[in-house]
Amino acid sequence: MTLTNIAPTAELQALDAAHHMHPFTANGALGKKGARIITRAEGVRLTDSEGAELIDGMAGLWCVNIGYGRSELAEAAARQMRELPYYNTFFQTSHVPALQLAAKLAELAPGDLNHVFFAGSGSEANDTNLRMVRQYWALKGQPERCVVISRRNGYHGSTMGGGSLGGMAAMHAQGGLPIPGIVHIDQPYWYGEGGEMSPEDFGRARAQQLEEKILELGPETVAAFIAEPVQGAGGVIIPPESYWPEIQRIVDKYGILLIADEVITGFGRLGHWFGSQSYGIRPHIMTIAKGLSSGYQPIGGSIVCDEVAHVIGQDEFNHGYTYSGHPVAAAVALENLRILEEEGIIARVREETAPYLARAWASLGDHPLVGEAVSRGMMASLALTPDKASRARFAAEPGTAGYICREFSFGNNLVMRHVGDRMIIAPPLVITPTDIDELVTRARRTLDQTHAHLRAEGMLKAAA
Ligand SMILES: *Cc1c(COP(=O)(O)O)cnc(C)c1O
Repeated sequence: MTLTNIAPTAELQALDAAHHMHPFTANGALGKKGARIITRAEGVRLTDSEGAELIDGMAGLWCVNIGYGRSELAEAAARQMRELPYYNTFFQTSHVPALQLAAKLAELAPGDLNHVFFAGSGSEANDTNLRMVRQYWALKGQPERCVVISRRNGYHGSTMGGGSLGGMAAMHAQGGLPIPGIVHIDQPYWYGEGGEMSPEDFGRARAQQLEEKILELGPETVAAFIAEPVQGAGGVIIPPESYWPEIQRIVDKYGILLIADEVITGFGRLGHWFGSQSYGIRPHIMTIAKGLSSGYQPIGGSIVCDEVAHVIGQDEFNHGYTYSGHPVAAAVALENLRILEEEGIIARVREETAPYLARAWASLGDHPLVGEAVSRGMMASLALTPDKASRARFAAEPGTAGYICREFSFGNNLVMRHVGDRMIIAPPLVITPTDIDELVTRARRTLDQTHAHLRAEGMLKAAA
């Protein structure tokens, strides 16, 4: 392996600090500390500019489903760039990668989700969805049906539309979000918010907030409900089993559109092509991105049911992106789907590696710092707590313990993220049992170090 074209790490960090504004980062602080420079990757492992090897417990940002280093995707991109690097699909033209990818997605998606509107990312796709559901009801002669209901601590992207649909308080605190016409209900987060209720009662109660909100607003004003099958960025929040059936009942009863944001849960992460299949949900629209190309190219989109596509098609939809259905991104996505399908990666997740991860991860539940250790498919999380028995929060500012844990994890060459005081992973779907063992070993070492540190600093105190 050669690193001859790479400047010394300190030089790269200085350039980065001087000119590169990182997303979701306090850039002043990062500039002083220096970013870790990732130079290459293979399988589930990253290499940094110092030659250290990390296990990528987050599959990049929940996206590298087939793992790193698949040259087939590089070749698909190069082939497509030589043949047709770009063309648009706005003005009565199409091209082979976009139409083939749309057809393939229609084949893979459940029910009558047979139509695809492409975007460059998950955020853009949710902006599309917001406009599409409102235009749908306008064309149906019900323009007053324009409110979209979403959830606190949901994540639907970072554009004005996506950030507003999402329910991240820290995001809403900046830049005038949410935009009008979007309202939020509570999340089905039993561990953190369920109190003395059983998970099943709590899941039903949280779903019933949708019905209460619809009645409060007036059913004739509600266009759609949007949610992630399992919340990702919110902290890998796995809803109680009672939640989704009740949501489906309410959506059906009031005839509102259901948007499943499958940006993380799509393309195998929960052991089926789509998370909606894992939960038996019947959405009218699914948001896709991330695993669609395994992150090798930026691409997203909306998979739309027959009825909505038919109505939208009755007039010109004044919406689209220069890179909607970009041929190189579409060609790479097609190759990614071929690999997922032909190598049986999703079935292996469902039958072997997800059950293996579930057992290995659950073993962390006996750690004194861990209040719960849960997983679904290839998504898993831990709640850190100063007191297991009461599911207590820390007295310190939320996220303080999580950040300390994350720093130890990074030091142990394991990429594990913190969301507040939850630790989360979502590794590439191709991770092997051997690597799962190594991941969990590093996670346990990280918990031991965090526990010792918190105790030494007098931080194992519960909030009043
Ligand atoms: C990441 C994410 C998005 C936003 O996708 P981008 O490609 O970052 O714009 C939307 N929804 C969910 C559920 C996500 O996890």
